[in-house]
Amino acid sequence: MNVEVLVAGAGPVGLTAALALASQGIDVAVVDAADGVDPRMRASTFHPPTLDMLEQLGVADALVDEGLKVRHWQLRHHDTGDHVDFDMQLIAGDTRHPYRLQLPQQVLCQHLLEAIDRIGVEVRFAARLTAAREYGHGVEAELADGELGRCRWLIGADGAHSAVRESAGLNYGGKTYEHASVLVATPFPFHEYLDGLCDVSYCWSAQGPFSLMRQPTLWRASLYPGVDDIETAADEDLVRSQLARIVPEAGEADLRSISPYRVHERSAPRFRNGRLLLAGDAAHLNVPSGGMGMNGGIHDAFNLADKLTRVINGADDGLLDLYSRQRHFVATRAVIPQAAANRQRMAADNRREQEAHLNEHRVVAADPERCREFLLRASMITGLEEAERVE
Ligand SMILES: Cc1cc2nc3c(=O)[nH]c(=O)nc-3n(C[C@H](O)[C@H](O)[C@H](O)COP(=O)(O)OP(=O)(O)OC[C@H]3O[C@@H](n4cnc5c(N)ncnc54)[C@H](O)[C@@H]3O)c2cc1C
Repeated sequence: MNVEVLVAGAGPVGLTAALALASQGIDVAVVDAADGVDPRMRASTFHPPTLDMLEQLGVADALVDEGLKVRHWQLRHHDTGDHVDFDMQLIAGDTRHPYRLQLPQQVLCQHLLEAIDRIGVEVRFAARLTAAREYGHGVEAELADGELGRCRWLIGADGAHSAVRESAGLNYGGKTYEHASVLVATPFPFHEYLDGLCDVSYCWSAQGPFSLMRQPTLWRASLYPGVDDIETAADEDLVRSQLARIVPEAGEADLRSISPYRVHERSAPRFRNGRLLLAGDAAHLNVPSGGMGMNGGIHDAFNLADKLTRVINGADDGLLDLYSRQRHFVATRAVIPQAAANRQRMAADNRREQEAHLNEHRVVAADPERCREFLLRASMITGLEEAERVE
């Protein structure tokens, strides 16, 4: 394998970067350690600017056709049924996609793979990158089967345990939350039981917070059972008892998957070391509240593909340091703190505090200008604008 750009990782970020580069005529290939696209339930929210970007690659329309368009999302007090709804139509002048699109990330990966395949880019699964080192004007990438790949630039989009990040010596700082979280998928129709429920709803209750996100055919419930051990968190009886607190009948629901996970807040100190470049989970991790991890990674991929294309076509490679500064700024100053604040807000455990949050957001929702600003930030548009001003 001898290419201009090698991408390690065929997740949403690596495939977006590969398609964006190949669309500009750059010689690129992708290797991934797994046998195919990761089937686990993970991201399911596409924010407006992500869809605007994917539209440029010709993959947004298919996603919009298959996904669930969510115009209103809400903060809700489960015990009283009180809720504050936010109308995404308020940002219709700021994006071509003024809604949250609910759809599993695997669907994006399949569309990206098909688009990449049409251009003739090689994507090799079951090909783990074990190490990479710079030599002269290029990079030597070692694969687990002993093959040596050569490229001029290596993009590490190889997820949280990135081998590229390790080879680049860009160690993760940050922390891992103590309690495990659980994601449950079920066709149980929560909307038929909870009055005024939006398709995306972040809920407080006396027994702890949860969120409900509707997918085209399923509901996805995020639960916080308050235990550290990941296996205990995934215990079916525990999950059923938590669902029953939301709606008694949901305790008997058909459960399609139970996915326990740990939550991290981490970032590499920078996203470039010479010819080794990081993007997505390989570069930064945030808590899932607000659905920003995959979206931020796709924004990295766009920013990086644009600058790397210009560098390959003769621009100064300092542009890649600018990529690192801009996206590091967004990860550490916007996404990580914003997602942590979302989680902290939902963790408020006394009624007075919960109602104060609800009232505060009610005031925002009632004021179109303040609400627009709030939605621009929650939809990641403000962070992108701030990054553009980073020099
Ligand atoms: C429970 C949960 C819910 C989430 N919900 C949301 C949400 O609603 N919205 C949102 O935006 N984000 C969400 N996220 C985050 C989102 O899933 C990730 O940010 C996203 O998958 C990152 O994409 P990526 O391509 O960077 O990494 P990954 O999706 O992890 O892909 C990395 C790829 O690299 C491959 N790989 C790993 N090591 C190697 C190697 N050494 N060599 C070659 N290949 C390798 C892997 O096989 C994998 O295919 C959620 C995450 C979790 C855990």
